[in-house]
Amino acid sequence: MTRVLRNPAGRYAFALMGTLLATYARIPLEPWLGDRIPFGPQLLVLLLTIWLVGTGPGLAALCTGIVATLVLVIEPVWSPLVANLADLFSLGVYTTVGIVAILSFDRIRAEHDLAELRAHENAKLAKRLREAARQKDEYLALLAHELRNPLAPIRTGLDLLDRSPDEAVAIDVREKLRRQVGQLARIVDDLLDVSRVVRGALRLDRETLDLREVVDVSLETVRPEFDSRGHHVIAERPEVPIYVHGDQVRLVQVVANLLTNAAKYTHDGGRVRVDLEVSDRIARLRVVDNGLGIPANRLTSIFRMFSRAHAPSAGSHGGLGLGLAIVQRLVELHEGRVWAESAGEGLGSRFVVELPTVPAPPEPLESRTDIVNANHESTRRAKLASQRLRESTDDITMVDISETIVLDAVRVLIVDDNVDAAQTLGALISLEGCLTRVCSDGPSALSCLDQFRPDVVLLDIGLPEMDGYEVARRIRAHYSPEDRPRLIAVTGWGGPEDRRRSQEAGFDHHFVKPVATGDLLIELRPRHAGGSAATRT
Ligand code: ADP
Repeated sequence: MTRVLRNPAGRYAFALMGTLLATYARIPLEPWLGDRIPFGPQLLVLLLTIWLVGTGPGLAALCTGIVATLVLVIEPVWSPLVANLADLFSLGVYTTVGIVAILSFDRIRAEHDLAELRAHENAKLAKRLREAARQKDEYLALLAHELRNPLAPIRTGLDLLDRSPDEAVAIDVREKLRRQVGQLARIVDDLLDVSRVVRGALRLDRETLDLREVVDVSLETVRPEFDSRGHHVIAERPEVPIYVHGDQVRLVQVVANLLTNAAKYTHDGGRVRVDLEVSDRIARLRVVDNGLGIPANRLTSIFRMFSRAHAPSAGSHGGLGLGLAIVQRLVELHEGRVWAESAGEGLGSRFVVELPTVPAPPEPLESRTDIVNANHESTRRAKLASQRLRESTDDITMVDISETIVLDAVRVLIVDDNVDAAQTLGALISLEGCLTRVCSDGPSALSCLDQFRPDVVLLDIGLPEMDGYEVARRIRAHYSPEDRPRLIAVTGWGGPEDRRRSQEAGFDHHFVKPVATGDLLIELRPRHAGGSAATRT
């Protein structure tokens, strides 16, 4: 029955059949009812129809009731005429009551539907608000994590500067501090750019420029990251200039961002290709890598603010998810478009930027060559500096200064993919007499356990390939309980859930970056010397 009433034909059939049956039922009642309430049964059916199946079928029931009663019940029968005034009055009452009932039900139903719609919308809004609040909390935790990462080596570096009289160490630390401050500045720049995007306040300083130079400058800017990860980079570009009307600084930001992502989201030793071509007066730049790839359902959403395709715990390639949103806005401001392609996770990615070209300018763009040269020079200097830094810090990874012992030859393995953070921490605790070794990922940490035999492992959680929880589990499995080194998490993740997870993974202690040196040294003390319960020295 309910199925019949759900389709329109069924509803109208119900109205017609019901009214005809009611009219027919009125005929045997004639001897008792006489002229009284000639429309009684029809009126009941009409109200029932409106209530159950709506006002449209209700109107059909009203019309059928009028015609059927006129023809079958009211004298003269089988004629549409009405013989007496009382019947005419009854007909008028029936029609009026029917119309009033239909209109009232219509209104009540409309109000009811509106109330239901509002309740539904309110529920949806409340759900969206809850989701937005959850995302905001998550985002604040992520922001805190991203800010803590550079803060950790800055804090440790400052402590190291206070404690170490060695000038070589001071030079090295200053270089690291500069780099980490640069990282903080980049985060703040991204946040400011995003706020400009939101306010529609991003402005371009446009001129005619050769896109090949933009690519060259961007490649040089990102070169240190490619080098540090051992990526093989190929750049293909045409012999002839490709002119676009654009803002040099912002276009370099676009291309450098895509290249940085290619470097970040590709395993060490990967391949990155950049190529540039023109067809139909559209310049097309492609950045292709053979890295982590992007799931099909995230190819569009990664261009939204705060959106990331990879969980931060899957590796150190965390980020705030702002870069591509800014890239997209900048490309759009240049009347271009950008999109991502990927065959799926683990199968690499390709980012394509299209920009309209413009005719060559009347004057050759000599000044731009100066910019490129200047940039080459600064990159060369940056490379030399980072090479010096690597050379000097290589010495720090295994330091034995047992003469100045406070923590007498405690062997500490430090695992952190932020090399600056790991090395400054290693240098600092070496000053206290610890023997240190630094590893930048889980597998290399596991492979040096037997040879280095650490007493304590200071372990970051967000590591590439194998996260800190997994490394901790494997370290525990590697030792018998009495030989096991103390496992201390040193991480940017500090929420209750993060602490619970690190406890579950078998960590003995959880530090949130940047760690106060004194607190860390207490934790590094051999267990029989007081451990975490000891007071600071
Ligand atoms: P961030 O890198 O800071 O997280 P982006 O907006 O630059 O922010 O990138 C958004 C997300 O898109 C990244 O978190 C990552 O998951 C994904 N992504 C970007 N570039 C690549 C790439 N080349 N390969 C794989 N994933 C990428």
